[in-house]
Amino acid sequence: MKVALERDWCIGAGNCALTAPAVFDQDPDDAVVVLLDESPPETERAAVEQAIGRCPAAVIRLLS
Ligand code: SF4
Repeated sequence: MKVALERDWCIGAGNCALTAPAVFDQDPDDAVVVLLDESPPETERAAVEQAIGRCPAAVIRLLS
């Protein structure tokens, strides 16, 4: 699985880090998303798909 995101459009809502904490975190300075693992294991797919659905800025994409 491949994950990509557009950090410039992130509004720092934090839903992704709450939903998939193994894949996403937030920068402690500006709360912008940090991609911890751009190739997470398949066991994270459901959490990543939930994070995509819960991102209010729609900046997370699943590439494979
Ligand atoms: S849920 Fe979306 S807007 Fe919120 S921190 Fe994550 S990527 Fe940014």
